[in-house]
Order: sequence, then C-alpha cells, then structure tokens
Amino acid sequence: MKKVRKLTSDVLILGGGLAGLYTALNIDKSKKIIIASKEPLGLSNSYLAQGGIAGELNTDEKVLAKHIEDTLIAGSGLFDKDAIKELVYDASENLKMLIDLGVPFDVDENGKILLTREGGHSTRRILHAGGDATGKNIMETLIALIKKRENVTIIENYMLYNLIMKDNVCYGGELISMDNEFCNVFASSTLLATGGIGAIYKDSTNAHGATGDGIAAAYRAGAKLRGMEFVQFHPTVFYDVIGNIKGQKFLISEAVRGEGAYLLNINGERFMQKYDKRLELAPRDVVSQSIMKEMYDTWSQYVYIDARHLGKKFLMKRFPTIYEKCLESGYHMESDLIPVAPVEHFGIGGVQIDLDGETSITNLFANGECCSSGVHGANRLASNSLLECVVFGKKIAQKINEKPESEVESWDIEISFSVNNNNYHPIREEIRETMSKYVFIVRDTEGLHLAQRIIDRHYNNLCKHPFTTVDYYRALNIATVAKLITDAAEARKESIGCHLRIN
Ligand SMILES: Cc1cc2nc3c(=O)[nH]c(=O)nc-3n(C[C@H](O)[C@H](O)[C@H](O)COP(=O)(O)OP(=O)(O)OC[C@H]3O[C@@H](n4cnc5c(N)ncnc54)[C@H](O)[C@@H]3O)c2cc1C
Repeated sequence: MKKVRKLTSDVLILGGGLAGLYTALNIDKSKKIIIASKEPLGLSNSYLAQGGIAGELNTDEKVLAKHIEDTLIAGSGLFDKDAIKELVYDASENLKMLIDLGVPFDVDENGKILLTREGGHSTRRILHAGGDATGKNIMETLIALIKKRENVTIIENYMLYNLIMKDNVCYGGELISMDNEFCNVFASSTLLATGGIGAIYKDSTNAHGATGDGIAAAYRAGAKLRGMEFVQFHPTVFYDVIGNIKGQKFLISEAVRGEGAYLLNINGERFMQKYDKRLELAPRDVVSQSIMKEMYDTWSQYVYIDARHLGKKFLMKRFPTIYEKCLESGYHMESDLIPVAPVEHFGIGGVQIDLDGETSITNLFANGECCSSGVHGANRLASNSLLECVVFGKKIAQKINEKPESEVESWDIEISFSVNNNNYHPIREEIRETMSKYVFIVRDTEGLHLAQRIIDRHYNNLCKHPFTTVDYYRALNIATVAKLITDAAEARKESIGCHLRIN
C-alpha cells in the first residue's frame, strides 16, 4: 500500500487552460480552490491559440442573430440551439471582462479593437492579440492574475486519474504526480477542464498532454458523453516537406485565409470554387474535405497556401509567429508557397453538460474542450472554442458561488501501488497510428471495424491488468478515448459535419 496525501478544498479544478483559469477567476474569493494541472501552466491548447476569440461586442439583436446563424450552419444544426444562444448572448460581457482583466487585444491607432474573419463567419467578429498569438496573450494575463489569488493553490505536474465517486456524486479527484506520488483532493465542487484529445492521433496541432484524460475519467465514473465521433481536422497545418516531423504540428491559422490568402493545389491552381461558393472561407469541415479530394486527385500529400500578395510588411505585423515559424523552415511567406495539409485539431465531443455547465454526475462540472456543451454541433465554427471556455466558465462559477457553505466530506482511500516494467509506448503508438489511418477525415465501415479490433484488444488488455502508475493511465486514457471516438464513428452511418462516411 502506498501513502496518500489528502487535501480538502471547496472547489477542485482539474486543468490550467482557459476553461480552468477563467472559471477560477470568477469564483468568489471566499472559496478555497485547488487547481491541479498535468503540465506546468502555459503548456496547453489555450496557450497555442492563434486566430482569436469570436464574439460580438455589439449586442444588437440582428448582429447576434448572424453569429447564431453562422454557428448553426457550421455545426449542421446538430445538438443544442439554446446553448448556442447562451454562447452568443453572453459573449460581450465575457469579452469585456477579458479586456478589463488586462488582455492586450490588438487595436488600431485610435484604440478601437481590431477584428478579423475566419471560415464560416459571415463578418469580422474575431478579436485577436499579438497578431497571431491570442492564446499566449490571454493565458499570460490570466496566469499572472491567478498566481496572485490568495484563495487559490496551484498543483502543477499532477494528473487526475480517477474521480472520487459515491452513488453518482463526485467528491473530488485522485491525482498522481509525474514521479508516481499520490494525492487525493476532496471538494464540494469539481470541475473537469482537462482539454482536448489531439494527442491520441499521430499528428495533431494540440499540446502533447491532450490525451482526453478528463473524458476518460468521467466515462469510468459513469458520466454521460456526447458527440465523440466529431473530431475537427484543421485544413491548413504546416506540412514539413523536409523534416516531416511527427507529433505536434504547427498551424497556419485560418485568419491567414481570413485576410485574403488562397489555397492552391500542387499544380498551382485555385480549387475551392469547385467545392463551395464561400471559397477559402467555407467552414473547416468543407475546406478539409475539399483539400483531401484535391490531394487525392493530384497524387499529393499537401496543397499550398498562397499569401504572397499580402506583402511582407503586412504578414510580419499581422502574423509574426507564423511568419517566423515558416522562416525557420526556410519559407518566406511573401515569396514562397507554403505546403499545408489537414491534421487533427479539436475534439468536439466530450462530457455532456447543461446550460449551467453541470454534468450528469452530482457536483461535477465540465468546461472547455473536454465538455460537450452542444455549441459546436457537428463541426465547430472557428474561434468559438475560446469563447465557450469563458461563457461557460462564468456560468459554472456563478453556480458554484450560489452553493451554501458546507463541510467537505473526506475519507482515506487505499492505493495498491506496484512498479511495473511494462512498456506502454508501443501500445500508445499503435493506437495513434490507427486513429490517423482509419478514424481520420474520410471514414468507411471496413476501416472503422479494423480500428475497433486493434483498439479493443489494447483497451481490454489494459483493463484486465491495471496498475496505478502515470504510464499505465496515459495508455489507458488514450485507449479509452480512441475507443469512444471509433465506436461512435462506427455507429453514425450518415455523413454530417466533420464526420464523413463514404460507406
Ligand atoms: C494550435 C491551436 C490553435 C488554436 N487556435 C484557436 C483560436 O484561434 N481560437 C479558438 O477559439 N480556439 C483555438 N484553438 C482551440 C482552443 O485553443 C482550445 O479548444 C481551448 O483553448 C481549450 O481550452 P481548455 O482549457 O479546455 O484546454 P487546454 O487549454 O488544453 O488546457 C487543458 C489543461 O488541462 C491539463 N490537463 C490535461 N489532462 C489533465 C489531467 N489528467 N489532470 C490534470 N490536468 C490535466 C493540461 O495540463 C492543461 O493545463 C486552437 C487550438 C490549437 C491546438
């Protein structure tokens, strides 16, 4: 048996991205909060966000109706119109709060907020910061503020592996550190904000830690999940022709197309007019699927983004991070075509929440990329995800603030710990390869059945031989989330949004 540290708190927040930190900042200072994060704060998808955060500062009904309509069209009308209304109507108050907190959104010479456009948006309604470093600027502001909060304790490098449960009530989380030290945190309210699922694919734009841990833990605890088959593939991710680096890939933000860049096939021809009248600014599912078709027809692994006509001065000022990154790989955006291809980018499905951010488990909330609030339908509208983190973060905080003070219940949990020498690396790699091959943009029955066989074999073996180690849970979570996505994709026979079934 291994000794376990025990902590109690009013609130336990699992995850230190935007979903976790913004919620924490909106919770009353009288409540004790523990934020546990698998990686140091700053290593998250939130930090990597480039394009911006969508939302209307203008609360005119007609203006808001357009944002609702664009979101519904991009998401193929699936899931929850009420959630979309909340997202759009509450945008302005939360964007203003970000401004008040000190996020340095880009402004023109008169101090007016600059807005950009991305695929699926009928108008310019996306705020950005540092040109293409929106996530970095938001997160640096919020991390500095959270570190000053006396009611908040931050535990970095600790990973949630299981929720503490009794009779469908959540009492907190069991955590394990990267060197296998244990800590059980008991809390009256627990928030899952563990982020996305990109790292269960071979190639993704996501942070390495995005292995869907919160979704897997919630599934083990019996929470309702929704929409797991919907995985968004970003159309324009830098394709490193020389290095072809595996793992975390660099994004060429949709805002580059929003500012007027084109897509060309390897023969130098524009092609989006063949597929959609919105051209390069069609929603992401349409652009990704069109690129796949074009790559297939031209026997190529990539297409090009052409931003040459935007000019060096504009590109360097508006997209400093992307410009620099391309340069590091030998590409000058003002004179070279940039090779791009679609890769995994965003997990739309997750732990189902209601309009207050509550899951089907009592005292358990979820926010951000690990949840399914219903706002993204079958395909997320670009830049609506940072907005989702803040809108639902505020709602969750309000719900927690309304809770009467109560004694936090806690008890001892025994943990049998044994070091094992199992090498889980090949299992993780085989699952990642399988997901990228058979549960990618174009899906068919034969491929999905093959993927199910491979993933089920690993999942069942892992369940039969449990170990309480970080390495074991990394593999189990990847296998669990891969299984959930593949089973849901197999079950949904129709093509809708980013789920394209060819048979
Ligand atoms: C390259 C890139 C660009 C993007 N650009 C945009 C954009 O322009 N606009 C937009 O709206 N969206 C964008 N997105 C999507 C958006 O960034 C994410 O959906 C959003 O930031 C998710 O926030 P989050 O807080 O849910 O997750 P994250 O920011 O990923 O945070 C997750 C946190 O959970 C922690 N964690 C994970 N597992 C555990 C565990 N087991 N225990 C404890 N902690 C855990 C992590 O360490 C991290 O602190 C982009 C995403 C990427 C990858």
